[in-house]
Amino acid sequence: MLLSGNSMGIRRYIPSMVVLGIAVAVYRYFGLEEIFEELIKPRSLQERYDYIVVGGGTAGAVMAARLSEDRDKSILLIEAGVDPSVEPNIDIPLMADSFHGTDFDWQYHTVPQKHGCLGHKEQSAIWPSGKGLGGTSLINYMQYLRGSRYDYDSWASGGATGWGYKDVLPYFIKSEDQQNGEFVRTVFHGFGGRLSVTDVGQSMVNQIMGLCFKEISLKKRDLNGKNQFGWGPTQATVKRGVRWSTYKAYLKRVLSHKNLHVATRITALKVIFEGKKAIGVLVRRDGGEEKVVLANKDIILTAGTVGTTKLLLLSGIGPKKHLQEMKIPVVADLPVGENLQDHVSADGIEFFTPFPGVTISMSKADSFLSSWRYTLFGSGMKASPRFREASAYIRLRNQPPNIKYPLLALHIAANPQAFTAQAVNVRKEIWDSIHGNPPTREGFTIFPVLLHPRSKGTIRLRSSNPDDAPLINPNYLADETDVKILVEGVQFVRRLIKTEVMGHWEMRLTSRLLSECAKFGNYTPAYIECHVRRITLPGRSPVGTAKMGAANDPTAVVDPLLRVRGVKGLRVADASIIPSCMTGDTYATQVMIAEKAADMIRDKDTVAAIKAYFKHLIESQHKKIMDDDESNETHSSHGVEDQKRR
Ligand SMILES: Cc1cc2nc3c(=O)[nH]c(=O)nc-3n(C[C@H](O)[C@H](O)[C@H](O)COP(=O)(O)OP(=O)(O)OC[C@H]3O[C@@H](n4cnc5c(N)ncnc54)[C@H](O)[C@@H]3O)c2cc1C
Repeated sequence: MLLSGNSMGIRRYIPSMVVLGIAVAVYRYFGLEEIFEELIKPRSLQERYDYIVVGGGTAGAVMAARLSEDRDKSILLIEAGVDPSVEPNIDIPLMADSFHGTDFDWQYHTVPQKHGCLGHKEQSAIWPSGKGLGGTSLINYMQYLRGSRYDYDSWASGGATGWGYKDVLPYFIKSEDQQNGEFVRTVFHGFGGRLSVTDVGQSMVNQIMGLCFKEISLKKRDLNGKNQFGWGPTQATVKRGVRWSTYKAYLKRVLSHKNLHVATRITALKVIFEGKKAIGVLVRRDGGEEKVVLANKDIILTAGTVGTTKLLLLSGIGPKKHLQEMKIPVVADLPVGENLQDHVSADGIEFFTPFPGVTISMSKADSFLSSWRYTLFGSGMKASPRFREASAYIRLRNQPPNIKYPLLALHIAANPQAFTAQAVNVRKEIWDSIHGNPPTREGFTIFPVLLHPRSKGTIRLRSSNPDDAPLINPNYLADETDVKILVEGVQFVRRLIKTEVMGHWEMRLTSRLLSECAKFGNYTPAYIECHVRRITLPGRSPVGTAKMGAANDPTAVVDPLLRVRGVKGLRVADASIIPSCMTGDTYATQVMIAEKAADMIRDKDTVAAIKAYFKHLIESQHKKIMDDDESNETHSSHGVEDQKRR
């Protein structure tokens, strides 16, 4: 009787608990500030705007949002894709890959590669590239990695005046809403900015890898702090378990600005010039109607490395010879499409354990409890940025002392089957020869990633038809040094199996060999090279095809104010301007670039207060803050052997 009375009592509260659950979920998912946000309504294009921003992706969303803060200026943002609000699952971090190959992806492929991807279908790599408001920040892996301070200092010393580390750090701080209190207390981080950055790497894999790295004396670090050599759990651009794309972080909150016209499903076909002055953009609506929209001030290209390169070439800005071959009138003879660089990764090395509870997988994440945990608290497996739980930066065995930044990264994914053959375009029989029939489903994968490739490639037009995808040739592994570094990376990772913690977890590596390479013996350097050249994973951080440099640098496409050299009224502000590959990934950097570029265009210094606040720390103590104990680091990719000798 008492029992049934109790359960009656509980039942009375069920409706209110359900309502409360829904309210918590709505708040967690959208945030109060967004519930009342205006949705994008289709509007006809005006004849003219003050600014036209082409490409509403990672950088474009930031740029348009910041420009629209000047209410007396009109801004048109053109985006070929759609408003991502139509697809709520895109916000779930674990589902990142589910949107590759969909309408949210341009679905690019590279041309057949000569030195890498030899085991891929048509020797080609898949290049996902986001399409829709937020661009690639809708489908990327959300890891917040800014790269090394040396990256930016080398931009500046290479002619990009004003882009040194001390110049860009205030913009990282401005854009950031760092949720890790310990990090916020350092000079490197900001809070209250638009881009939420959260600790997400909380899985068992991190505990195992933490102990493993401790055993080999690799320090735990803030990977965006002063010294990158070390490891750290993933920090991701996620807020309350929701992917924090630049659409959510920047654009959504300014959609009510009357001076901002966000036009989706509209593709820019080319920039229109009057002499050497960019005056407008020829656009085409989904459905075919074409129109020229004019700009009173700047036209800013933020169509991404591939999109911007293609658009510049179609507009007559590029290498004269190539444009003539394409029968496109030359407006400016510039090296657009040259200097293409991308990170490149070796095939993942899988560690298998007989013990449960290590792997993060879609099927585990879909369980009732895990789903509810995510819905109510925004935590659990679904909040994992596609298994990427941690990263490490390693000093090479014979790294020259003058190279003070890492050349090799390890990305750690909490799943031994982190990719499928189809996802990376590898021929099935080759893939299965190494990854087929895994001994268990529990474990993780480590990807050795080459950060500063010497191999460079190109992006060229296939034809002058804007509907044709361009010819993307990253020229992976053309330089022998790139292969050597990846071979060293694979050897380093495989040696980790000898650590005590791996023994404790009864971890084992696969005993299989890639069919086509078995003749070179069991993981000999020749075998690893053969494997690396057959399964060659793109780094997905392409840069460099509209390189920023000094105004008189013949290898540069834009000057330090991001103006396209030799013409007026045209700027580029996306990943294509990054002169060479970053020591980190490119999302955080891209947001910083757009923030800084918006200030340049608006002729404002919105980080003056941050600079003043940090003056003492950033400027007067710059040397002290930046000079680090890196030279004292003894750790190198000798790894386990180093440790045993000590
Ligand atoms: C699978 C994947 C995972 C990644 N993971 C990470 C990560 O974990 N961390 C990290 O830091 N970086 C990561 N990156 C890289 C990073 O996300 C990108 O480098 C960055 O988002 C690029 O920003 P962008 O502004 O240059 O281009 P994009 O964000 O790609 O924006 C370009 C926009 O322009 C639009 N566009 C293109 N052409 C036209 C046209 N002609 N007309 C109109 N619109 C056009 C596109 O639709 C798109 O919206 C990843 C990338 C990929 C592909």
